[in-house]
Amino acid sequence: MFGQNTFSHTKMPEQPQGEVETFAFQAEIAQLMSLIINTFYSNKEIFIRELISNSSDALDKIRYESLTDPSKLESGKDLFIKLIPNKAAGTLTIIDTGIGMTKADLVNNLGTIAKSGTKAFMEALQAGADISMIGQFGVGFYSAYLVADRVTVTSKHNDDEQYVWESSAGGSFTIKSDNTEPLGRGTKIVLHIKEDQMEYLEDQKIKEIVTKHSQFIGYPIKLLVEKERDEEVSDDEEEDESKKEEKDKKEGEGDEPKIEDVAEEDEDKDKKKKKKIKIKYTEDEELNKTKPIWTRNPDDISQEEYGEFYKSLTNDWEDHLAIKHFSVEGQLEFRALLFVPRRVPFDLFESKKKKNNIKLYVRRVFIMDNCEDLIPDYLNFLKGVVDSEDLPLNISRETLQQNKILKVIRKNLVKKALELFEELAEDKEQYKKFYEQFSKNLKLGVHDDSQNRAKLADLLRFHTSASGDEHCSLQDYVDRMKEGQKHIYIISGETREQVSNSSFVERVKKRGLEVVYMTEPIDEYVVQQLKEYKGVSLVSVTKEGLELPEDEAEKKKKEEDRAKFAGLCKVMKSVLDNKVEKVVVSDRLVESPCCIVTSQYGWSANMERIMKAQALRDASTMGYMAGKKHLEINPDHSIINTLREKADADKNDKAVKDLVILLFETALLSSGFSLAEPQVHATRIYRMIKLGLGIDEDEPMAAEETPATGEMPPLVDDAEDASQMEEVD
Ligand code: ADP
Repeated sequence: MFGQNTFSHTKMPEQPQGEVETFAFQAEIAQLMSLIINTFYSNKEIFIRELISNSSDALDKIRYESLTDPSKLESGKDLFIKLIPNKAAGTLTIIDTGIGMTKADLVNNLGTIAKSGTKAFMEALQAGADISMIGQFGVGFYSAYLVADRVTVTSKHNDDEQYVWESSAGGSFTIKSDNTEPLGRGTKIVLHIKEDQMEYLEDQKIKEIVTKHSQFIGYPIKLLVEKERDEEVSDDEEEDESKKEEKDKKEGEGDEPKIEDVAEEDEDKDKKKKKKIKIKYTEDEELNKTKPIWTRNPDDISQEEYGEFYKSLTNDWEDHLAIKHFSVEGQLEFRALLFVPRRVPFDLFESKKKKNNIKLYVRRVFIMDNCEDLIPDYLNFLKGVVDSEDLPLNISRETLQQNKILKVIRKNLVKKALELFEELAEDKEQYKKFYEQFSKNLKLGVHDDSQNRAKLADLLRFHTSASGDEHCSLQDYVDRMKEGQKHIYIISGETREQVSNSSFVERVKKRGLEVVYMTEPIDEYVVQQLKEYKGVSLVSVTKEGLELPEDEAEKKKKEEDRAKFAGLCKVMKSVLDNKVEKVVVSDRLVESPCCIVTSQYGWSANMERIMKAQALRDASTMGYMAGKKHLEINPDHSIINTLREKADADKNDKAVKDLVILLFETALLSSGFSLAEPQVHATRIYRMIKLGLGIDEDEPMAAEETPATGEMPPLVDDAEDASQMEEVD
């Protein structure tokens, strides 16, 4: 596979390490690297966090594999991360005993396969994002080039030989097999530090950075430090090793001083022969000895500590928005930390995305970070940790699926998450921030999670005809309901502007009733499942059978109108034929002559728009669901009244037929439907314009057939096309 990416396959003469192969970086990666190298960033220290985080992931992976196959850890090595600064050589080395990389991994992961984050991160940088955000975009490795001009990665995976990857950027990297210093298993990254970045080789600096960014890493991070100690040596002995050796040898030969001599010598040593010298030695110092934060008492943990933990867990550059730290005891025991981030991650709804949100631990041992059954999809924006006392350590992904303990954990996590959102809702400002980012998730929850639907519905916020610029809850709506009002009136559409001006809302508003505006595509799915709120049913003002509270006079007028317009309704139905199910007199219109409503069980205009936009729709549902349209006419409108007079005078009047088609198409548009062939409609409108301007139809511009009556062009024949708008293309 990776052979394709080789741009110059340089065969070097046979070396003990094997031949060197050169590869070109994928174009976007090369671009990212030069951006990292050439742009001025002061916050370079984050490279340590990124590389440690990669090591920690690699350790997680091998530990997880070893749970089901202990032989994978056999090399007897502990799981750790080690940092070795070397001032003389100008290098900083990071070693881990993690899963390692095969040759293919090195080629693919470090240079030839770009992730979606590569481009996204560059765009973010150009838009002013900070370099420290790199980890979120899944390209953290390249932050090494913030401080190094050359990077050497030696890696050994259980399934392959040991390979060395190396690059000084500039568009290419090399790979060779090399076993001169066997690692056993894991990865060693040597950073050849740039001249002006030598501060990153200071112990103190490294300690500071690790404590700041990586203290919560679950494996020991060791720093090799140089130390000095005083050692006493006899004055007559030279301080070098050879002398020592000689002494050892003498002792070994049993050439011991006589007892008298010893006494005499001791005296001498105290006086003049003993001398202190400085001995240099190295020692590992563990930099992250903190206990896992979730095992501690919440009262002892500061917000800053939670913030640091959250950042190290998620690679986020900002603090979390909210947190819930809790434990469950009793039949089952676990501790958990749930965080709400401040933003939707750039790839939240990307289906291929690896789920890396809630880390599952069993008795402090990390198990996996992509356990799908731990939390429902709609809560996939939550980050955190769950540590169970009851699950078996060697649990596999497959057995987890049916695990009862996991089901109980999941239920509790959802419950606590909803509690957390309720708490957030108490602070209007905070909740607004939260809602802006995650309202889609809550709505998905209303659709998916029937058990918690009522609670989730409490968390929804909408604009309404009475709420102005503020969002309000359905509870607010219910509290404002008029006496005798039986329903929550809703309308769905593309924008607040569009729905608030719609003819459907007119009449409802005129009666002093409030209408909830639902303007996100996902709202359609919400109303499919949310039939009622606190016992009050939700009614769409765009669907048939909308009953508004009315008085006696109104009832009487309605009946009279029905009788008066019965003839016109019949004519219109026969003209429109199967394009509508029926034509009825409306009591909801004020300013528009007519509107299209959908049957209670069919799709609304908005839903039809959304479904048409979806690539994989089912053609049969499309026809069935989209087919049920009713045309409602406004008995108080002058157009309708004049049309009635004409139709009553002559029900075969050609002009009436033409106008009915035009009215219908215009109503489709203004009710939020789309026309399958807008140009046909446009042609009709142009004809009308010409008519208005008194232009003769026979002039060259007219491409249509000559008008039959001379008065109006025939629209009825063309109108056949309009029926197609209900069908799938
Ligand atoms: P990310 O870690 O976010 O996926 P990176 O650019 O930091 O992105 O790393 C790319 C990939 O290289 C990782 O996904 C991992 O597969 C591999 N990798 C990096 N560092 C190590 C390491 N120390 N041990 C094993 N694999 C590693």
